[in-house]
Amino acid sequence: MAISFPELQPGPRLLLGPGPSNVNPRVMKAMASPVVGHLDVDFVRVMEDLKRLLRIVFRTANEITFPVSGTGSAGMETALMNLVEEGDEVVIGIAGVFGERMADAAGRLGARVHRVEAPWGRIIEIERIEAALKAAKHPKLLAIVHAETSTGAWQPVENLGAIAHRHGALFLLDAVTSLGCVPVEIDHWEVDACYSCTQKGISAPPGLAPVTFSERAMAAVRARKTPCRSWYFDLGMIERYWGAERVYHHTAPITMNYALYEALRIIAEEGLEARFSRHRENAAAIQSGLAALGLEPAAQEGYRLPQLAVVKVPAGIDEAAVRAELVRRYNIEIAGGLGPFKGKVWRIGTLGESSRREHVTLVLGALEMILSGMGIEVARGAALAAADRAWRATAAA
Ligand SMILES: *Cc1c(COP(=O)(O)O)cnc(C)c1O
Repeated sequence: MAISFPELQPGPRLLLGPGPSNVNPRVMKAMASPVVGHLDVDFVRVMEDLKRLLRIVFRTANEITFPVSGTGSAGMETALMNLVEEGDEVVIGIAGVFGERMADAAGRLGARVHRVEAPWGRIIEIERIEAALKAAKHPKLLAIVHAETSTGAWQPVENLGAIAHRHGALFLLDAVTSLGCVPVEIDHWEVDACYSCTQKGISAPPGLAPVTFSERAMAAVRARKTPCRSWYFDLGMIERYWGAERVYHHTAPITMNYALYEALRIIAEEGLEARFSRHRENAAAIQSGLAALGLEPAAQEGYRLPQLAVVKVPAGIDEAAVRAELVRRYNIEIAGGLGPFKGKVWRIGTLGESSRREHVTLVLGALEMILSGMGIEVARGAALAAADRAWRATAAA
């Protein structure tokens, strides 16, 4: 008997959560390009151009810059697995889910983890990070999250590379929710290793993790006493495939690499500065609009991400019901909270392609209607007026 399954019918959704973000149709079209072999001359050309495009976006001259096959977490594993050996001292900043995740991963490798914690929603003070490096005997690595996606906090990291180096440590940066939205300056900030993903600020589907490693980081990788614990994420082996030798290691996900290529080409065409301005301007508008709806930010003042607004759910409101209505009535996805923020916040992202005026207008209007329908007192039209004022202010500036 023939078994039949329904056709795929997802969405379409307006993706205004913390990722994935909306994908440009040009990227979807690139994914329909013919699948060729992972050592094909045409694919090798794509690989070389991808490395060049990633160096532009990461603002680095690092030779070892390429996309790991896997999502952002695979980038994290690649960095930690290659830079950390059993018994190494690692200082990790923790103020949310993703700092905690790095500590978990480093702990599994047998590292001695020094935790530098801050309450959720706050940044980690630089002085405390430096004190932890000083307190460690031989810190091998300092690791921190640039954009803490669980809280909306924007961690200052510009000086951390120099500070880590003064204490003989390497500096690892999680740029999963920052790359493509706000400046990430690998060389200027002396970052030794950095990982990101494709589905947030870069606006391709999930599936690859762009990474970059400095010469200093590669020297540490080559000086390891023990082989990398992971076969799949062993940088030395992957380097031989992404470098001139082209030695087969694993089959690169061809189609995903096409997607990343086209998404990066779109970023290069827009220009990084123009892209950062677009994120800032739309952030000012959405943050003003959310404030006009009476929604309070969860992250510390002065350190709020422009690409991700995290706001507190008003008392007495079933936050999941609001999100369900956003999907049912308006096809809009936003996200709820994680861990201690579960049920307490909404996370509204305007990342990459999703950062557009029409999306900001739509989500503010939809939230106003849903919240007022639930008996929350909101001044009608105030959110859109506030957003409009913010845009006018940036246009006048
Ligand atoms: C999303 C995210 C990750 C994990 O990336 P995946 O693509 O989901 O594996 C890591 N760090 C931060 C800060 C993130 O926002």
